[in-house]
Amino acid sequence: MGIYVITEECSGCQECVQACPMGAIEIVEDVAVIGDACNLCGACVDVCPFEAIKIEVERKKAKAEGYKGVWVISEQREGKLMGVSLELLGEGRRLAKKLGVDLSTVLLGSGLNHLAEELISAGADRVYLADDLVLKDYQGDAYTKVLSDLVEEGRPEIMLMGATMIGRAWAPRVAARLETGLTADCTALDVDEEGRLLQTRPALGGNIMATIICPNHRPQMATVRPKVFKKPDLDLTRKGEVVKLQPRLKKADIKSRILEIVKEVKGEINIAEADIIVSGGRGLGGPENFKLVEELAAALGGAVGASRAAVDAGWISSYHQVGQTGKTVSPKLYIACGISGAIQHLAGMQSSDCIVAINRDPAAPIFDIATYGIVGDLFEVLPLLTTKLKEA
Ligand code: FAD
Repeated sequence: MGIYVITEECSGCQECVQACPMGAIEIVEDVAVIGDACNLCGACVDVCPFEAIKIEVERKKAKAEGYKGVWVISEQREGKLMGVSLELLGEGRRLAKKLGVDLSTVLLGSGLNHLAEELISAGADRVYLADDLVLKDYQGDAYTKVLSDLVEEGRPEIMLMGATMIGRAWAPRVAARLETGLTADCTALDVDEEGRLLQTRPALGGNIMATIICPNHRPQMATVRPKVFKKPDLDLTRKGEVVKLQPRLKKADIKSRILEIVKEVKGEINIAEADIIVSGGRGLGGPENFKLVEELAAALGGAVGASRAAVDAGWISSYHQVGQTGKTVSPKLYIACGISGAIQHLAGMQSSDCIVAINRDPAAPIFDIATYGIVGDLFEVLPLLTTKLKEA
């Protein structure tokens, strides 16, 4: 395993020096010399016009044969389906149709028979139901073993999971056990003409959107945040198959125990679920002015959101932050007050049905995606709106 330069072929053209992301190559006496910083990425091999650089890397045997179908791994809490599972079934249905394959879903828990019909109505052709008391609540060891066993038997080509607290813990464990790739927190999915899953997510601090493929291993695994996709309309006439599974778990498979589940108590409206959100940004000028946002939100029966700038300034808690490093929301109405519309903020709210932007700068990027824009001073516009709404 290693990299070497065929010195007779090398012209010292420097293409490899520019292509190397590690700065590991220098030209010495018209010949490329590769230093210790090389991480064998192969960028130099690809650009060399003389095929003078060779790389020999022992690659794992590709495992992409014999996998078919799209699977959505559904989640429930206390016998109720998580919204993201329905959203992923809608998107999974679209991908399965494009690939001409079935859409299946997997559900683990206890006492869940009543959910199978809902999953079929949302688009599943087949529901794998592992219903057992030991699976009642998420337990990493048990859930990983049951899902990995099932995937090894069922061999789906694509597997989608919610980027929930549980999904973020569960998906990487399953991916590691199956020795496949995982793209976390995708914001868009598609399949190319070769049937490969195109997994798009923000990269490099959110400054670019990267589309990632998993060419050699299966299943192609992605997690997607709640609210990125819309829930499909339920079709109560759809028919599907329910496959009941008996989990094969031994005592030794489970190394940790759930002693107690303590629920976080929140008095405020959960912004991830709210239909109406009024968000404030740096344009508010200080924490005391968040009351203008709160008053408008209260008049509309909505929740309060915030940009990261407002959160970082300590004006409001991070619980309210909308965006790439905050919550993804998709309400019916999103009112952005004094928010410029940075890409990282838009990543968390741009799928809202109706976006109203209030900003005194007519060139603010938020207006590019706003349904309605109000160019004006929020200190005048917000009280006026609140008063009018209360009157109405
Ligand atoms: P600004 O960009 O400063 O905009 C303030 C706006 O208020 C301006 O457009 C101004 O014209 C307007 N304004 C000022 N006064 C008034 C007034 N009186 N009336 C009306 N309008 C007024 N940001 C997020 O929001 N969420 C994230 O999750 C997030 N994640 C990030 C992750 C990374 C890795 C990075 C690098 C950045 C992230 N950011 C995130 C930060 C993001 O890049 C922006 O800095 C941030 O969104 C800006 O917040 P803002 O719009 O409130 O402030």
